Amino acid sequence: MTTDDAHVQHTWQLRHPDGDEISIDLWTDDYTVRVDGGPDDGDQREGGRADVDHLLAKYQANGHRLVRDYPVNDPAVAEEPLEDDEREPDGRPEHCPECGSPVEYEARYSDDFREGAAWLCTGCKWGQWLTA
Ligand SMILES: [Zn+2]
Repeated sequence: MTTDDAHVQHTWQLRHPDGDEISIDLWTDDYTVRVDGGPDDGDQREGGRADVDHLLAKYQANGHRLVRDYPVNDPAVAEEPLEDDEREPDGRPEHCPECGSPVEYEARYSDDFREGAAWLCTGCKWGQWLTA
């Protein structure tokens, strides 16, 4: 029994009628699988849920029963790529046509009238709207 389960995403617990217990942990990296107890005690695999399914099928065929399974932590999520509408489109003006200051892209700009992607001047705050 471990008290540190911050790396565990989901745990499956199986029990054999003779009292033998096995627990399978899927780690939050979504591929590391760790077995505690049973014939594969201490085994560590890297096949993710496919390995879990394989092990569950194997142990159940061997007489183990799935006692319970429960989520422990959310899977780790890689940094999300920018949504399409947050990526800066081509055609950025070199300078503000009004005052010559640099412009910056703002994906979710809004003023009193509209909301959406806009080029904004860092100087005079002139905005060139990209979308209506
Ligand atoms: Zn300007």
